[in-house]
Amino acid sequence: MSSQKHTIVIVGYGGMGSYHTQLIEENGRLEVAGTFDLLEERRSASVKAGYTAYTSYEEVLADPKVETILIATPNDVHKEIAIAAFRAGKHVICEKPVALSSDEFNEMLEEAEAAGRIMMVHQNRRWDEDFRIIKEMYEHNTIGPLFQLESRVHGANGIPGDWRHVKAQGGGMLLDWGVHLLDQLLFMIDSKVTSVSSSLSFILGNEVDDGFEALLQFENGIKAVVEVGTTNFITLPRWYVKGTEGTGIIEDWSLTGRIVTRNQESERREPTPIRAGVGLTKTMAPPSEGATITDVLPTAVELSSSFYTNFADVIEGSAEPIVKNAEVMRVLKLIEAIFAAAETNQTIKDFDVY
Ligand code: NAD
Repeated sequence: MSSQKHTIVIVGYGGMGSYHTQLIEENGRLEVAGTFDLLEERRSASVKAGYTAYTSYEEVLADPKVETILIATPNDVHKEIAIAAFRAGKHVICEKPVALSSDEFNEMLEEAEAAGRIMMVHQNRRWDEDFRIIKEMYEHNTIGPLFQLESRVHGANGIPGDWRHVKAQGGGMLLDWGVHLLDQLLFMIDSKVTSVSSSLSFILGNEVDDGFEALLQFENGIKAVVEVGTTNFITLPRWYVKGTEGTGIIEDWSLTGRIVTRNQESERREPTPIRAGVGLTKTMAPPSEGATITDVLPTAVELSSSFYTNFADVIEGSAEPIVKNAEVMRVLKLIEAIFAAAETNQTIKDFDVY
């Protein structure tokens, strides 16, 4: 392990760029060498927060003490900023979505390879505890083998900000939240996606999607529903998962939730029919007393290290990246399939990377 701290310049000192300063500072092996933003007001904010504000990107690239460029700009300029960084011999950490298309990401990877520099994408939601609880349930069959997962994020604030409304800048919810939810699923489920169907919503009248629903079928039989909405005044649970022996629910990021499983000890008894609406049902009646057990959610297992510790290890050559570029590419190809499925209103089955 090197005794000198690794230096990072944050390009794009907006919402996420300023948050990255905290994440970097929490890590003792890395330091923020400065920031660069196109806007004077953001450069002043950087100085006020105690960080050198470079006045041009060329100045950043020409500074030999800068080892890594962290890209936290709108999505349409990630590629050009990354390629210039590689040509100047810098490593790159890039915010998600890394690029607007798999072709763009390919170009970035070719430049990283030619320069012999590291490219890592900040798919930070692999570290989210709600996701890690689901991963634990998936890997240890806590409610039996999972056969259906529903992963949702719902808000009622519409699309925030400015560039997120603009198609050419990589706006829209599929590229914004979709990339996180899909990355989580593909990171967890070790199986090919065999088909995708989807629909995008344009309720707010923007040129980009303000939400979407996608249905993914995996080769191992698992089905996943992924949904993002920005006009949901009542939210559905963050996770609803079904296993052969039970059901799990996580309401939100405060990790309110439970699992309900079949009580193996209880003798199987028919439920008592109930009146439901104007009808009668046994099928939809609650399970008979003692037939199920309600339990707390399992404990999530930590990933082997934090994103930034892993990055430091990777540039020092002592670890493999937790977020692998091949995985990022797979997610981009899946997003392209989801866009195509929505545009053509067809189920897409031909994936070239699965
Ligand atoms: P933002 O609009 O708050 O900030 C972007 C900043 O980049 C602005 O200050 C803008 O002036 C600056 N900028 C634009 N073009 C530039 C250029 N060519 N050179 C230098 N600066 C430039 O946006 P944000 O919400 O911080 O999002 C930035 C990136 O972070 C996006 O890719 C977004 O998807 C990602 N993001 C990731 C997460 C996450 O949890 N991983 C959360 C939010 C945003």
